Amino acid sequence: MDFEYSEKVLALKARVEAFMSEHIYPNEAAMIAETAEGDRWQAPRLLETLKTRARAAGLWNLWLPASGHGAGLTNLEYAPLCEVMGRSPFAPEAFNCSAPDTGNMEVLERYGTAAQQERWLKPLLDGEIRSAFAMTEPDVASSDATNIATRIRREGDEYVITGRKWWISGAPDPRCRIMIVMGKTDPDDPDRHRQQSMVLVPLPHPGVVIKRSLPVFGFDDAPHGHAEIMFDSVRVPIDNVLLGEGRGFEIAQGRLGPGRIHHCMRLIGLAERALERMCRRAQTRVAFGRAVAEQTVTMERIADSRIMINQARLLTLHAADMMDRHGNKAARAAIAMIKVAAPNMACRVIDWAIQAFGGAGVTEDYGLAQAYATARYLRLADGPDEVHRNQIARLELRRYQGPESLTGGSAAVVPADPGEAIRGAPVWVA
Ligand SMILES: Cc1cc2nc3c(=O)[nH]c(=O)nc-3n(C[C@H](O)[C@H](O)[C@H](O)COP(=O)(O)OP(=O)(O)OC[C@H]3O[C@@H](n4cnc5c(N)ncnc54)[C@H](O)[C@@H]3O)c2cc1C
Repeated sequence: MDFEYSEKVLALKARVEAFMSEHIYPNEAAMIAETAEGDRWQAPRLLETLKTRARAAGLWNLWLPASGHGAGLTNLEYAPLCEVMGRSPFAPEAFNCSAPDTGNMEVLERYGTAAQQERWLKPLLDGEIRSAFAMTEPDVASSDATNIATRIRREGDEYVITGRKWWISGAPDPRCRIMIVMGKTDPDDPDRHRQQSMVLVPLPHPGVVIKRSLPVFGFDDAPHGHAEIMFDSVRVPIDNVLLGEGRGFEIAQGRLGPGRIHHCMRLIGLAERALERMCRRAQTRVAFGRAVAEQTVTMERIADSRIMINQARLLTLHAADMMDRHGNKAARAAIAMIKVAAPNMACRVIDWAIQAFGGAGVTEDYGLAQAYATARYLRLADGPDEVHRNQIARLELRRYQGPESLTGGSAAVVPADPGEAIRGAPVWVA
């Protein structure tokens, strides 16, 4: 793997950074104020203006791999750009690179029919609408997707969806016009990975009732938000199924890679910004006769932050490279590793930054409290740490099942495809 960014990527990175300096950072306070002072559940107008500017600047849909719709970058090439966007909660949307839309667009691009793509993928790519992905349910342990109980029954030319979901990110946003819903079309199928299907539900829909918005440590993430939703006999045409009945698990598996790695890339940017803030603050605050930065405990935390961020970045680049060269499935173990490493790293670094800020760190004035909330929930969303660790451990154990060899490990049982050992693993989303 080559660690140097290409000329093309360096040039794009410089343009993204310049856009951040000129348009994103200076407008953060104004966008927060617009949401706080107006209707929290309307998109800030300023953000829509920034979207127009980013698109005009050619910084749009950069996440899309070679598909003709985006910049045609590989995951490895996109990583440093996504990292820069992760420095601000507003930037990913301004560049039309935000969750859960990127994952949903990828699903529509890969599995949608021409009609589905025309109706929903096109406006998503144009940033005209937003989307949600509904899998998690309050009544079952959803880290095991085979538990999902929402029922999708076929009645004539329609599907009827009944169930309850929660933590559905983006659903409260009035611009959210399409939701991918996972439920069971055949709960009796002996293959428990063939019981599920995914169906497209256009919004607003009379049967889709948003019961409440769920805040994370008090942050409601308006106007994006995370919703608890009732599906009360929601009827959609059978044409709205994705890929076909019984293929829901398969789609969820396909959606995993890109969505997850994007979260990790952004978390590295988030941690970088926290570290920058920690360094600046610690050098200007004087306690007991010297700058907080001169206390060795602070220096150790700064050094450890740098080490941990760089480790997470390299691991993320490695996963991106695996995805590019061997495909998302083969890279599954590498993706699981960064999904554990990046949020834990970010939690640690942001927590140290909060400590260096003193009481100011837990206010909303410096963005650290919200950054911590984001990093912390990403230890749950898209699969809790434990589940990913189990997958990694299972893969490692498999390598050493045969008789001990003099070369160390039993080559015969190492899967040719490193993802093979954990194929069929549970799926999780955010
Ligand atoms: C802010 C936020 C946004 C989210 N966005 C979305 C979204 O847009 N769409 C969506 O569908 N979902 C979303 N989620 C839901 C998220 O994906 C789930 O919370 C996650 O998959 C875990 O499922 P669960 O909450 O049902 O936990 P459970 O399955 O009940 O698990 C609880 C705990 O049990 C432990 N555990 C579970 N399995 C194992 C195991 N095998 N070994 C050891 N320990 C284990 C873990 O500690 C885990 O945290 C979001 C969650 C949050 C917090």
